[in-house]
Parts: sequence; structure tokens; C-alpha cells
Amino acid sequence: MLLKGKTAVVTGGSRGIGLAIVKRFLEEGANVALCGSRPETAQKAVDAILAEHPDAPVMGIAPNIADEAELEAAFREVVERFGKLDIVCNNAGISQSTPLADYTAEEFDKIIDINIKGVLNGCQAASRVLGEGGVIINTSSMVSKMGQPSGVAYPMSKFAVNGITISLARELGPRGIRVNAVAPGVTATDMVASLPEEMIKPIADAIPLKRVGQPEDVANAFVFLASDLGSYVTGEVLAVDGGMTV
Ligand code: NAD
Repeated sequence: MLLKGKTAVVTGGSRGIGLAIVKRFLEEGANVALCGSRPETAQKAVDAILAEHPDAPVMGIAPNIADEAELEAAFREVVERFGKLDIVCNNAGISQSTPLADYTAEEFDKIIDINIKGVLNGCQAASRVLGEGGVIINTSSMVSKMGQPSGVAYPMSKFAVNGITISLARELGPRGIRVNAVAPGVTATDMVASLPEEMIKPIADAIPLKRVGQPEDVANAFVFLASDLGSYVTGEVLAVDGGMTV
């Protein structure tokens, strides 16, 4: 029960890594607000959790993460329901693989809105609602260290996430707010998990630990950073990638 009595928000919490974070946080005793891109998807994920654990302290929210005021209002709803807010995980994100020559301005804008402004807005709303003390954890990626062969805007956005994290660790540290990021490697969320074995094997072979990550591997790093076990860790971008970026 590493998070007993804590209240957390997880953006992109309706599936994949975010849903794994929500479930691990609940197991560790936290109250959790699961943030989806639409009210229906958020509610569906909440209903699935409640079907297994009817008393789970979980609620669904669906603010537009590209709009700070909406996010802040949603965080205040969470405070109304659970009494306070301690942990904000800015995890929602999209990826892209478009070659540079084919990129459109709309695609650049979309990734900036979701992956960069979404995280920055989440940090700003958190700083307004958290008060003194608290934890912010942003989801970065291994591509924030190594880039990728196509789809430059995705690694660009994750470099920005690292910059936001490191800078805000310095700005918010004096208020007792720790700001960290987790940088997953190839993780078996829906898209990766549905690939056939012959596609997964060469990917896994390139990873020192010889397997792709599970969403729970990544969620465990969030538990560590969110809990008092990480009480002296701030400004860290923690790789959870099986050694891919070593
Ligand atoms: P996913 O597609 O399974 O989930 C993405 C989540 O983000 C969903 O819950 C979705 O609702 C939310 N989201 C997407 N667009 C949104 C929007 N406009 N507004 C609000 N929410 C929105 O992906 P995932 O693999 O679980 O990815 C989660 C995070 O992990 C992302 O930031 C991603 O960049 C990062 N990541 C994933 C991997 C991987 O291999 N899966 C590797 C490195 C980093």
C-alpha cells in the first residue's frame, strides 16, 4: 500500500500504459481519476474496473488536455470528489511515423497539442491545484534519447517532455513538488501486442533483456516515483526499456 491515502490523476488512463498505471495505483491504495479523450471511453474503462472491484475509488474525467482551463477544472472536480490531489501523471500521447517530406502542418500541430501542450498544461494545472507538495510524472519515451528513423515530430515532442520535466523540477522543487518522467521502450500495448510473433521476435532480439516491456513494467516505475520511495528523486527521466538506450 505504497500510495494509501493519496489521490492521483492519470491522463490517457483509458487503455495501454495509462490503464496499467491506474490499476497499479488502485492496488497501492490510491484514489484515482482516470482521464480519457472522450467521456464514453473514460466511463467504459471505469466500468470495467468497477465490474472487477465494485468499491474501487475510481472516477472518469475527459477534459481537452490541449486546454489548460479545462484540465484545471477537471482536476478541481477530482479534489471535490476525493478531497485533495497529490499525484498527476501526464501520460496521454500519440505517435507518428510520417517521413519528413510528407509531413503536414496539421500533423505537426496535432502532436504539439497533445504531446507537448497536453503535458505542459497538465503540469500547469497541477501546479495550480497541488498546493505545497505533490508529484508530477510525465510519460516520455526511449526515442527522446535515440530519435527514430521517421516521424520526427514524435521524438521532438518527447525531447520537449524531458525539457519540461527537468526545468519544472527546478522551478517547483522549492514547493516540495517533485517532477519526473518515465521513458518506456517498446511496450506491449494494443498496437504492439497484436503484432504476430515473427514481427515481435526481431524487436525483442535487439533489446538487451530480450523481451518487449509490459505496461505493468512501466506502471511499476510510476508507483516508485509517485510514492515516498522516490522522495528524493526529481528531474529524473527514468528509462524503462529493457536496456535499449544503454
Ligand atoms: P495508447 O494508444 O494505448 O494510449 C494512449 C492514451 O492516450 C489513450 O488512453 C488515449 O485516450 C490517450 N489520448 C490520445 N490522444 C488523446 C487526446 N487527444 N486527448 C486525451 N487523451 C488522449 O498508447 P500507450 O502505448 O499506452 O501510450 C501511452 C504513453 O506512452 C504515450 O505518451 C506514448 O507516447 C508513450 N510511450 C509508449 C510506448 C509504447 O511502446 N507503447 C513507448 C514509449 C512511450
